[in-house]
Amino acid sequence: MLTNKNYEIAVCGGGFAGVSAALSASRLGKKVVLFEKEYMLGGLGTAGLITIYLPICDGLGKQVSFGIAEELLKLSIKYGYEDLYPDNWLDGVGTKTEKDKRYEVQYNPQVCAILMEKLLIENGVDIMYGSYVIDAEVLNGKIDNLTVVNKSGQTKYYIKSVVDATGDCDVAKFSSAPTEEYEQKNVLAAWYYSIVDGKYDLHKRGLADLPKEELVGRPPVKHLVDKRFSGLDGEELSEMVTLSHNEIFNNFLNKRKSDKDFIVTMPTIPLVRMTRKIVGEYTLKYNEMHTYFEDSIGMVSNWKVRGPIYEVPFTTLYNGKVKNLICAGRCTSVDQRLWDVMRVIPCCVITGQAAGTASALTDDFSTLDIKKLQKVLVDNGVKLHEFDL
Ligand SMILES: Cc1cc2nc3c(=O)[nH]c(=O)nc-3n(C[C@H](O)[C@H](O)[C@H](O)COP(=O)(O)OP(=O)(O)OC[C@H]3O[C@@H](n4cnc5c(N)ncnc54)[C@H](O)[C@@H]3O)c2cc1C
Repeated sequence: MLTNKNYEIAVCGGGFAGVSAALSASRLGKKVVLFEKEYMLGGLGTAGLITIYLPICDGLGKQVSFGIAEELLKLSIKYGYEDLYPDNWLDGVGTKTEKDKRYEVQYNPQVCAILMEKLLIENGVDIMYGSYVIDAEVLNGKIDNLTVVNKSGQTKYYIKSVVDATGDCDVAKFSSAPTEEYEQKNVLAAWYYSIVDGKYDLHKRGLADLPKEELVGRPPVKHLVDKRFSGLDGEELSEMVTLSHNEIFNNFLNKRKSDKDFIVTMPTIPLVRMTRKIVGEYTLKYNEMHTYFEDSIGMVSNWKVRGPIYEVPFTTLYNGKVKNLICAGRCTSVDQRLWDVMRVIPCCVITGQAAGTASALTDDFSTLDIKKLQKVLVDNGVKLHEFDL
């Protein structure tokens, strides 16, 4: 065991949720360390090549998600965009109705990762790359320390509060907070970039796995392989990744026309959509669109359907069993159907900003003054309720 270290806040995982959490906590003057097992920020949104920042509007003309959700969307295309660009939103072209493009962009993964890294460093966050959080020790209902493994060996970090932005609720699991897994498990996906015939393209191999309620009346979908993956087992993840590489390679060979054609880049983390999530003090349900929540921390839309708006209750981010642990990103407390809506990038950034802000205000989330949290969020650009729009 190496030396012990102290921080006020540890953010575990540097995907879009972790970046948003670390940024908001550090902007409130807190000393934040961010642990990321890879050597870049952005998680699935960069290392996984999922480079489509899905809409922050409702599809009927209203912007729904604000604050860091809009800031990171704009940052991701600061030096140019790939295929998707919402000129009606960003250039003020035309009206904003259900006929217009939604407020979403496609960005370059490498540029986005570097810009997010610069942003966190400018704001004083200590980024620890190659650092895997492998355990959490709980004393008197709070996480006392995290064990982190990296090239230096194992280090214990003593912290006041923890944001679990691992996407898989790893820290919640280590600290015995209640969690739930994705019942359907994940289908195989194989996204990659290539240059074929001089054309640079993102290939999105592998269809999203619809929640069972949305399969009713639809013809069966053919997936890349029949097997499904929990995303929570080391051996199974390795098998999943090799199957994905195989699919990428075969697809590339089918498209290849000359020796000038190449795979540009492939995912360096497994493409899992839904794995494990916290069982929060409250679980937000699919049919709770347009519902007022007094403790809302922001709003999200539904990327699949124009119209629905969800207020996100603070109580979906934590379970009082572990008082100083809060979750952000694709592992917050929603029902199985809503999970497919809440897992996408803008929603992860919304919960990240709330989790980071809350962790700057308290080390016991069950006693947090929600009005105080909401005031800081609003002061930092977030809109909380549908009637604010
Ligand atoms: C095939 C596919 C297609 C998708 N399409 C879209 C799309 O078009 N648009 C969209 O908006 N969303 C899409 N999504 C969903 C979206 O990309 C992710 O859900 C979202 O980016 C998750 O962000 P996150 O920060 O919660 O988690 P992640 O991006 O998973 O980030 C978690 C980070 O934590 C790190 N980590 C994990 N465990 C540990 C640990 N124990 N210690 C230290 N670090 C750890 C990981 O390396 C990772 O960087 C798609 C997902 C998939 C798989």
